[in-house]
Amino acid sequence: MFLMDLFTRCRKCQHERVPVNVEFSYCPDCGQLIENEWYIVRCACCGIKEKAVIKNGEIMPEANFCHNCGGHEYIVEKLPKINFVDINYAVLVRKAVEESKPTEFTQCWAEKNVSKQLLLQQLR
Ligand SMILES: [Zn+2]
Ligand SMILES: [Zn+2]
Repeated sequence: MFLMDLFTRCRKCQHERVPVNVEFSYCPDCGQLIENEWYIVRCACCGIKEKAVIKNGEIMPEANFCHNCGGHEYIVEKLPKINFVDINYAVLVRKAVEESKPTEFTQCWAEKNVSKQLLLQQLR
């Protein structure tokens, strides 16, 4: 049951002790190479920044609608680097880096997000 064991461990470690001020670091708990990624969400209608949260593994705005225009659509944007302005809006995603496939998300990441992530990667 090696795969099962691996999956369980993967689920357990949230890599919470990885420092947030670096781009890459090895997790002190599980030893995986972790990439810190910051994401913000914007209203798809007026483009204003919304405070981002992660719900069920998905990045979305904290509010149900845009406080500026009332829109319900939003876009998720990956930040190349976190700064002091965006840190109030951004969410941190700790991504385990696979040595062979560095841009692919691991099973720790919700699968329904994959298409959005691929889109984001293409926009880079
Ligand atoms: Zn870890
Ligand atoms: Zn808006």
